[in-house]
Amino acid sequence: MSIHHHPDDSTLLSYAAGTLREALSVAVAAHVAMCPTCRARVRTAEAAGGVMLEETGVAVIDSDALDRALARIETPAVAKLAEPAVRPHTSDIRVPAPLARLLDGGLDDIRWRWVAPGIHRHELPVTEGSGNLFMLRIASGKAVPEHGHSGTELTMILSGSYQDETGHYGPGDIADLDEDIEHQPVVDSDDACICLVATESPTRFKGLIVRLLQPYFRI
Ligand SMILES: [Zn+2]
Repeated sequence: MSIHHHPDDSTLLSYAAGTLREALSVAVAAHVAMCPTCRARVRTAEAAGGVMLEETGVAVIDSDALDRALARIETPAVAKLAEPAVRPHTSDIRVPAPLARLLDGGLDDIRWRWVAPGIHRHELPVTEGSGNLFMLRIASGKAVPEHGHSGTELTMILSGSYQDETGHYGPGDIADLDEDIEHQPVVDSDDACICLVATESPTRFKGLIVRLLQPYFRI
């Protein structure tokens, strides 16, 4: 699997520091489980966090502080990365371990709920008030309604692929979008695209009709 899109630094740092909200954290964990590059970055950030805590006594992580701390760490903990992904509930290799814990089986066992033509959704359990976590199955050639965000939105591809203004996304890729970005993903794989989506707050879709329908569709 070749992964081209990773969470941005601030997201990974928040994840390493344990300050990401639960829904976002599951999506990052799912990506990290499949991405050796980000596993190394998280380990490094954790090590750097330890150094900064020792130096300052304050667990504040920002990019400058990270750069300074990284310069002090001789070897990032890359050697310790050969960590086999445990798949507790499924043999479906498309499902990373952090997600498998929340599913009964593999991607083919999901009981999808119809949302709109070509679009199905499956809700995942997270603690009340800690964001929204759900899966989407979008048919080939379908577009997700154009939307903006009122916070961070993470979308991790599990199967199939899509294209939007920010690039092409395949299995393992994660789209880390903040509220400035409006995008319209279109599925360009022959099969449906199945992805894990985490949002800080409900997604805002553009257009009156879509907005009126949103409470019913809950997307
Ligand atoms: Zn990555």
